Amino acid sequence: MVSLHPVLDKGSLTKGSSSFPGGTLKCHCSSNPVTVTLTSDVLHNHACGCSKCWKPDGALFSIIAVVPKQNLSVTANASKLAIVDESAAIQRYACKECGVHLYGRIEKEHPFSGLDFVHTELSDQEGWQEVQFAAFVSSIIEQGFDPSGMDEVRGKLKALGLETYDALSPPLMDAIATWTAKKSGKLPA
Ligand SMILES: [Zn+2]
Ligand SMILES: [Zn+2]
Repeated sequence: MVSLHPVLDKGSLTKGSSSFPGGTLKCHCSSNPVTVTLTSDVLHNHACGCSKCWKPDGALFSIIAVVPKQNLSVTANASKLAIVDESAAIQRYACKECGVHLYGRIEKEHPFSGLDFVHTELSDQEGWQEVQFAAFVSSIIEQGFDPSGMDEVRGKLKALGLETYDALSPPLMDAIATWTAKKSGKLPA
């Protein structure tokens, strides 16, 4: 039995609350954890098969969402954070002790600037937006997953009601293309 992610392996998704006010994310350190507070719910929560997003041990997918960056603040032990890869478009801030990624921020010109990337599984609270779709599904093969298991993986995702994509979802791909067209002048800015 292939394990996708603890949230996805339960067989059904817990629906979020439309009035969820946000909450606190915490790294895995048992003492002095880094905490990040969000003052709103997340958007575009999804399973991601790429190699860059943080995943819990043994998971094939990460669960990742975005939040407007003005709604995010580091509220404890910020000194334990370090950027995973300074050259990446998304600067992912991870705890130096436990390795968990607390948030990813875009500091350069980018279609998603102004949005931070976060993992709601780091919160004890319930009501966060549920997973909406699965992105970069084929990318798990690049990380060593046997391609003959892909039907099973996509079947499990579909059984949860999740559409599967090998890039991002159409609304996000459209947002990237719109940003690119405005930048090049093909569409009015
Ligand atoms: Zn930690
Ligand atoms: Zn990813």
